[in-house]
Amino acid sequence: MNYGNIYENYEPGIVPVNPIEGACYWFAFKGSKLLVEPDDAGFHIPFITHSSGAAYFSDKKLYLGLFKGEPCYCCEAQYTENESSPLKLIELRALFGQMDEATFLLANRALQLLNWDLTSRFCGKCGSANCDKEDERAKLCPKCGHIFYPRISPAPITAVTRDNQILLAHSTRFPGNMHSLIAGFSEVGETLEDCVKRELMEEVGIRVKNIRYFGSQPWPYPDSLMIGFIADYDSGEIRVDGIEISHAEWFPYDKLPELPSRLSIARKIIDWLIENPA
Ligand SMILES: [Zn+2]
Repeated sequence: MNYGNIYENYEPGIVPVNPIEGACYWFAFKGSKLLVEPDDAGFHIPFITHSSGAAYFSDKKLYLGLFKGEPCYCCEAQYTENESSPLKLIELRALFGQMDEATFLLANRALQLLNWDLTSRFCGKCGSANCDKEDERAKLCPKCGHIFYPRISPAPITAVTRDNQILLAHSTRFPGNMHSLIAGFSEVGETLEDCVKRELMEEVGIRVKNIRYFGSQPWPYPDSLMIGFIADYDSGEIRVDGIEISHAEWFPYDKLPELPSRLSIARKIIDWLIENPA
């Protein structure tokens, strides 16, 4: 299952249009808040000329390519909102469902690229200032030639099922009584399947079998790629560490606790399982 298609209205590009003339789409962020313009359906990305928006945008811009046939950039927003502001700064996560999916997915990419741009300014090998590589999305150290690509951190997330029940856990980081699927970052040298097995054993003491790929979701906080799996219970009794996970339980599909938002792949997997019981 795909989590939307970022390339539906978007053609990636590296070499910017220079000079910037005419209106462009501007994905401008202040932290993880996106600068958006309200409309009847929710919000959209400002489509304005560089000169009219120049006061809102940082000098450093990354060219993203063509969006809906028009040039689009991402940059930092230098914008202070007040009640009469025509543009609003809104947390990207809160914009899910309030703008079309293609725009939301490209905004996720823009945020992740901006974070990467900010955190890869210097060469980790020799300490020189990096420059943008002209022919691909990467940075080049002009002194030692080292190349730095945007980092993507794979994080498997797994729904374990057992007789029409699903294993859900409450993390100490979760608000209220929210329960979700077990997830964790891949470690060096392990397959995604090994990661799924290790995380479930470490966090809840459960062995699984028959691990199947479900779908994936970029998660730009700051650079995760969530990779969804479904697995069958094999053996073991639930045991939580009490530090990262405070509670875990087998829940019947008709008696589920508070769940994560519909934005998350966790919720997408849970909703799919309820509609497609084994
Ligand atoms: Zn270097």
